[in-house]
Amino acid sequence: MSAVSAVRMALNRALIFLGPPGAGKGTQSRRIAERCGVPHLSTGDMFRDAITRGTDLGRMVEPIMKRGELVPDDLVMKMVEQRLSQPDSANGFVFDGFPRTLAQAEQLDRILARKGFGKPLVVDFTVGEDLLLRRLSGRWTCSVRGEIYNIYDAPPKNAGICDADGGKLIQRPDDRPEVVKERLAAYERQTKPLADYYRRQGVLDTVNAAASVEEVGRALREILKRAEGRDGHL
Ligand code: ADP
Ligand code: ADP
Repeated sequence: MSAVSAVRMALNRALIFLGPPGAGKGTQSRRIAERCGVPHLSTGDMFRDAITRGTDLGRMVEPIMKRGELVPDDLVMKMVEQRLSQPDSANGFVFDGFPRTLAQAEQLDRILARKGFGKPLVVDFTVGEDLLLRRLSGRWTCSVRGEIYNIYDAPPKNAGICDADGGKLIQRPDDRPEVVKERLAAYERQTKPLADYYRRQGVLDTVNAAASVEEVGRALREILKRAEGRDGHL
C-alpha cells in the first residue's frame, strides 16, 4: 500500500457541508475531497470562475452575488447537473455551499437517486456571528486555485502571495461588511432550514466550527470514519 492510499479515506457518497458564510466549509471541504480523492464542488467557486471567464452565466450571476443574494435555483441546478455528468464523481463528491435552498436539496435527492447514490452525509458547521465577521473580514483567496487564507488566523508566509503556487491573493468583493450582512440574512432565511430537512432524514451531523482548523478537521474525520461502513451507494 502506498503512503497516499494509506491515508486515503473512502467516501462513496455525496458529502454536504452546511453552514453560514465564513464557517470554514471551503477550508475543510478542499482537504477532505483531496484526502478521499473525490471532486470538491463549490458552487460559489464555479460562479466566480464563470464571472472571470466572462460567460453568459457569469454575466447573469455577477450582480446577484455582488448584492449578497442567492442565485436562482434553476441556474444553480443546471450548473450542478452539468458538473455531475462528468465521469469523475463515481466514488462520491464533496459539496461546498450547495444545496442552499429546500428546492435545491429536493432536486439533489432526485439526482443522487438517478446516479445510484443513497442519502448524502450532511455536516452542519455551527459558529456564532462575531467569529464569522472576523473570519470573512480577514479572508484572502488565491486567484489561481482558490487556496484560502486568513490574515488573523491562517496567514500566508509572504503577504499577498499563495504558499502553494505563488498566485496573487485577493479579497472577495462580497466579503465587504455591507454585503456580508445580506449574505448572513439570506443564509438565515433560505439555507438554515435545510438542517431540519436533513435531520428528519437522519443524515445530519454537527461540528463546532468555532474550534481551530485542526480540531474541526479531526471532528470531520471521526464523522467520516463512523460512516465508512454504511456505503452511500443504493
Ligand atoms: P466558508 O467556505 O464557510 O465561507 P472559509 O473556509 O472560506 O469559509 O473560511 C472563512 C475564513 O476563515 C478564511 O479566511 C479561513 O482561512 C478562515 N478559517 C476557516 N476555518 C477556520 C477555523 N477553524 N479557525 C479560524 N479561521 C478559520
Ligand atoms: P461562502 O463560502 O462564503 O458562503 P460561496 O462561495 O459559497 O460563499 O457563495 C458566494 C455566493 O455565490 C453566494 O452569496 C451566492 O450569491 C452564490 N451561490 C453560491 N452557491 C449558491 C447556491 N447553491 N445557491 C444560490 N446561490 C449560490
